[in-house]
Amino acid sequence: MVDLALNHKSQTKPKDLAENMAQFVEIVLGNPLIRRILNFCTNRCDSCGRRIDLCLKKYVGYRVRMCSKCKISYFIIKTVLDHVINSIDLPRDDIETNLRNPMWRKGLSSVLEGIAKFGPKKPFTSNSPFLIVWNVTKVCNLHCKHCYESAGFPPSDELNRREALRAVDKMAKAGLAYIALSGGEPLMRKDIWDIAERIRKNEMALSIATNATLLNKKTAKRLKNLDCSFVQVSLDGAKASTHNKFRGVKVFKKTINGIRNAVDAGLCVGISTTVTKFNYEEIPKIIDLSEKLGAEIFMHYNFIPVGRGTEIAKFDITPDQREKLLNMMAKQIGKRKISLLSTAPQYGRVCSHFSALSLTHFDTVSQMREFKDSVKFLGEFVGGCGTGRLYCALDYNGDITPCVFIPIKVGNIKKDDLLDVWHNSTVFHQIRDREGFKGLCGTCKYRNICGGCRARALGYYNDITQSDPGCIFNKKEWLKIIAK
Ligand code: SF4
Ligand code: SF4
Ligand SMILES: [Zn+2]
Repeated sequence: MVDLALNHKSQTKPKDLAENMAQFVEIVLGNPLIRRILNFCTNRCDSCGRRIDLCLKKYVGYRVRMCSKCKISYFIIKTVLDHVINSIDLPRDDIETNLRNPMWRKGLSSVLEGIAKFGPKKPFTSNSPFLIVWNVTKVCNLHCKHCYESAGFPPSDELNRREALRAVDKMAKAGLAYIALSGGEPLMRKDIWDIAERIRKNEMALSIATNATLLNKKTAKRLKNLDCSFVQVSLDGAKASTHNKFRGVKVFKKTINGIRNAVDAGLCVGISTTVTKFNYEEIPKIIDLSEKLGAEIFMHYNFIPVGRGTEIAKFDITPDQREKLLNMMAKQIGKRKISLLSTAPQYGRVCSHFSALSLTHFDTVSQMREFKDSVKFLGEFVGGCGTGRLYCALDYNGDITPCVFIPIKVGNIKKDDLLDVWHNSTVFHQIRDREGFKGLCGTCKYRNICGGCRARALGYYNDITQSDPGCIFNKKEWLKIIAK
């Protein structure tokens, strides 16, 4: 399953970090001179590499070798950063601590490069994907009803070890901050540890999405030693019968044990549940169970009719049910230990009514009542559905797709340049142009904060630019679909 949550163990509190980021980016966006400077400083250097990343590294005290042009850039970047930090009294220590974390530093580099490349738009597009969810294998030990990969059997064209390691290096070179391993079941790949180690060696954050049945104590410890940011486990029911019905085998106990092993190893664990009519009523109980097990995140997975999921499309929940679910979750943000996330981009809209911020698949920032303006700004800047702007996917055979739920090939990592695909693919351009969306999603006042799920648009209309029929505003469209 796709897994996008960020590590919740950042040194700075999410509220502060979001506020700092919002203020910082707002200043950069609002100042034409800073933007012009950025154009120069974000060029990649033939001899030194990613200039902006090097400058940020040097800014927080790393020894970095630079050519004379990069040295000039550093001087400019330092002056700008000092000015911004001092003028709005940002906590320098917190900013520096975050910049020492490669994931945050690369993320900020992508934001700044993105502003230089694509302009100061809301929602914004990063210069390279911030994150890639990589279905490293199609092989799985289970046979789930809703699997988007229709996983089960080993394909002949899966990237081999050498190709997979090269793919990691290519993603690092493009400037990615984070690779989320998914599948199939990633732990079924014999060389998964080589891949994971290569990701960490390239200073990218790593997470893994698993059914947890192979997550024994030793495996959990190994992931912890690799500083894996996040382990996402799919759980479809609060009781064995519901979960097993989905999974096709009796694995509930094994899954729970796997979750316990990961929590015991000190890993940040997220429970993800694809919500359908099969388990809709059980969601509050699944959230309670997740919290009881020590998970830090509960993630509602929006059902998408793709892969094997097309066979159970009639069990998709209604727009009313989705709205109720999202409200139930948003109301609880900040009031319980567990973070409540959703892959439904409408969560951005719903959260905004509670003065909370949903970074869609990434994170929620709660209790932000006192920061209402920044919340709105950051919500629109990050912008709901992240496909083609912040994130894309890589399939087991190296095919690059906009999202794990969007089976449209836009390139292949073996032969194509990732940045070239990211910058020039027609599909990505279509996805980024929210004003060009058809139906309500094209005119909706929440377009920037949400954008509708492009995968659901494709799944239900075979058109990536159509409206998301799962939204409460599109109820009429939904009724037409189910009447067919
Ligand atoms: S109409 Fe589209 S953009 Fe507006 S809230 Fe609904 S899904 Fe989001
Ligand atoms: S299309 Fe967008 S909202 Fe839908 S699953 Fe993909 S990233 Fe999420
Ligand atoms: Zn240089």
